[in-house]
Amino acid sequence: MAGPISRLAAFSDTFGQMLDDIDRVLVTREQIAQRIQELARQITDDHTTAEGETEITLVPILTGAMVLAADLMRHMPVRMKIGLMTVSSYPGKSLRTQGSNVLGSQLGDIHGRHILLLDDILDSGGTLRKVVPLLKEMGPASVKVCVLLRKDRSVAKETPCDYVGFDIPDEFVVGYGLDFDDYYRNLPEIVTLKKAVTATAASLNG
Ligand code: 5GP
Ligand code: MG
Repeated sequence: MAGPISRLAAFSDTFGQMLDDIDRVLVTREQIAQRIQELARQITDDHTTAEGETEITLVPILTGAMVLAADLMRHMPVRMKIGLMTVSSYPGKSLRTQGSNVLGSQLGDIHGRHILLLDDILDSGGTLRKVVPLLKEMGPASVKVCVLLRKDRSVAKETPCDYVGFDIPDEFVVGYGLDFDDYYRNLPEIVTLKKAVTATAASLNG
């Protein structure tokens, strides 16, 4: 495939093979970088009081939102803590949700804190429907949600979400934190995979 990430293929044959698995680039690294800055500015403004105070606990849903969290937080001039939640909904070679399971969390005391929950992608909404009430039970001052991507599905658009990076077609995507069988998370762009690659998962997704 052409474009800036094809240059990375020169580093290793195995990475080059991963790039061969790409069908289309849906969102480029430049578009992501630009949008992250806009989101960071908006989120920071929304959390700044009239007295100029900001204090947030960022909660990325692992593993997919770790790349988003790392990029977003470095554009947020905010007094910040980080909590972690691990949720699995597309285990292994899944191409559609197998139901969201909270596998663990490391949140600290979030009572009275302003929470910004981060997820990589909003699809069926099952993850947010499970996680947001769990957080609210812990007595935070507020819970807001930011997703990098939202699929073009009515169920996704009906799921409450405060900040959306990009609306994308209803297709299975990887890169920038999103995986297929735990691979491709380190691709710097949001891409679709060739059918021949995802076809290996037919039994899970049929
Ligand atoms: P939801 O619970 O809204 O159906 O889906 C949210 C989770 O499912 C995301 O955090 C992500 O882990 C996974 N997911 C949904 N759509 C995709 C996709 O197109 N690609 C990948 N890699 N994961 C997805
Ligand atoms: Mg996954």
